[in-house]
Amino acid sequence: MFDFSERLKKLPPYLFVELDRLKAEVQAKGVDVIDLGVGDPDLPTPEHIVEAGKRALEKPENHHYPSSVGMIAFREAVVSWFKARFGVELDPASEVVTLIGSKEGIAHFPLAFVNPGDVVLVPTPAYPVYHIGTLFAGGETYYLPLTAENDFKPDLKSIPEDVLSRARILWINYPNNPTTAVVTKEWFSEVVAFAKEHNLIVAHDAAYTELYFDGYVPPSILEVPGAKEVAIEFHSLSKTYCMTGWRIGFAVGNPELVKGLTTVKNNVDSGCFQAIQEAGIAALTGSQDCVAEHRRIFDERRQVMLEGLKKLGFEVHPPKATFYLWVKVPEGYTSADFCAKVLKEAGIVVTPGNGFGDPGEGYFRIALTVGKERLEEALSRLASLSL
Ligand SMILES: *Cc1c(COP(=O)(O)O)cnc(C)c1O
Repeated sequence: MFDFSERLKKLPPYLFVELDRLKAEVQAKGVDVIDLGVGDPDLPTPEHIVEAGKRALEKPENHHYPSSVGMIAFREAVVSWFKARFGVELDPASEVVTLIGSKEGIAHFPLAFVNPGDVVLVPTPAYPVYHIGTLFAGGETYYLPLTAENDFKPDLKSIPEDVLSRARILWINYPNNPTTAVVTKEWFSEVVAFAKEHNLIVAHDAAYTELYFDGYVPPSILEVPGAKEVAIEFHSLSKTYCMTGWRIGFAVGNPELVKGLTTVKNNVDSGCFQAIQEAGIAALTGSQDCVAEHRRIFDERRQVMLEGLKKLGFEVHPPKATFYLWVKVPEGYTSADFCAKVLKEAGIVVTPGNGFGDPGEGYFRIALTVGKERLEEALSRLASLSL
């Protein structure tokens, strides 16, 4: 009776439906399922952050509407964190906006800059929200495949001139989910130059800049001279501080881009609960030892899993960042077949690569979001599979 709008009808099919059904079926049989599917860390939010949130919850001044752009104190905390981490200066008044999780900003951003018929350049496989935000804004997605041949970086030179002339935004995401690829500052420089040449906005999703290993330290695109003329960067406290449930992030960069996004937010939401912003201030301005500890834990898990998978004959490139592994599916299987088999016969959930986009076919993603013992258990179950 109530027909969904055309934009909802255009949503891509949810490719994990069958896997979710299968998971419920396996669980109903009483199997102790090991879930390596979701990108949600199992670790609790560090105590000093929780305590700051509790204290802030008690303050009556936080019980009112926040502002859409966010508390100036939070934006100042972002500025000092950004300066310490990336050496980049930002103006808290015009170059920072608080987000209700970075997903919120990523989804809303195209509403500020995309008109019907405009093209948005979106990597694939990828976090689905770049395409969905484009769709909701009435834009057209032009996909840029991320493959092993191009080191999981978009081939900007492959974009046809007629597409480029209609393109408004180029989405990028490094360290990358799901491929775990990383880039150098030099590559960001090329992207900035390309964007200037073609009058594009660069929107960089930087959700994983703090989860890095092996001496690699991810850059911000804003470290590139002139980046602020074309770029906005989306950051999240979710993965860095194990705060996925709190819903807090921020966007930084070009003041007009920040203003456009803030204007959408003014008209859609009324900003992030101030008590949560105060917890965010504690996260960004407090000791960063907890982040180093998160890295240590994920690194340990990463090594356990890499070594175990290698012994079992899997092909996987050791990631320099993120808490994922992007693994080749064994010969003779599709991503979907393999993930279904692993779930049915070993009780392990892993994500089929094609669920993030067609070029992800032939891969599966492991999230290192369970403890070391569970990963060891997963490895021993995988060892008993006949593949
Ligand atoms: C987790 C994730 C986000 C969103 O995080 P929020 O919790 O909304 O801040 C954004 N981009 C990618 C690639 C992610 O994996």
